Amino acid sequence: MQLIDTHCHLDFPVIAADIEAVLRRARQSGVTRFVVPGVDRQRWAGILTLCQQHKGLYPALGLHPCFLAHDHTDDLQRLEQLLQQHPEIVALGEIGLDLFIPDADLRAQLSVLHPQLLLAKQYDKPVLLHVRKAHDQLLKQLRQLKLPRAGLVHAFAGSQQQAVEYLQLGFKLGIGGAITYPRALKLRRLVAELPLGSFVLETDSPDMPLCGYQGQVNYPERVALIAATVADIRQEPLAAIIEASVLQSTNILSL
Ligand SMILES: [Zn+2]
Repeated sequence: MQLIDTHCHLDFPVIAADIEAVLRRARQSGVTRFVVPGVDRQRWAGILTLCQQHKGLYPALGLHPCFLAHDHTDDLQRLEQLLQQHPEIVALGEIGLDLFIPDADLRAQLSVLHPQLLLAKQYDKPVLLHVRKAHDQLLKQLRQLKLPRAGLVHAFAGSQQQAVEYLQLGFKLGIGGAITYPRALKLRRLVAELPLGSFVLETDSPDMPLCGYQGQVNYPERVALIAATVADIRQEPLAAIIEASVLQSTNILSL
């Protein structure tokens, strides 16, 4: 069975510098497909090139709420151009709201998020969402816009109620390295209780190291460990976890 890492920043220098070895080790661990999300305009061209150069890499482009520093009108126009020129772009992402960062400006973040959600609707793409301390605000946007392709909520860490609301809107929850920490009781309970088809697997590499790897670069090969942890928590066969998460990933992203 072949795994998918639905969220990994393979274009970040620490990974990209060693990409052949990173992909080889991932494939040896059964991880054969990788979704590479963009965080700002400067990285988009590099992501498209990287995904053309290597088998099994899928680009997503977007403006991340933590990387907003200037006027984004040009960036949004460029994003639309690239969506028209590159049908291989599988999603808008990663985009969202982050009220966890110091001096977070909700209005500024919404002014960049909202047009990207409209682009997703217009170009019939799913979205990859980054959401911290802002699930209710984001859910409000999603309920109003009703995105036909929905998307994935990357590194979900919200409540049971918020999880249910995303699922009702057609979204799936991205489960990553956080689940491997025994102290992540709330997330573990959620993953144990949700229906099998509620989540997809991701690493967010090079960030979000798994338990036992703190302080180290995270790699997509570790999706296999995340899958094993989910199987353990749910007391279900590993093959069933992999099959269900891959099916949800391929459905949402049309891989
Ligand atoms: Zn990310």
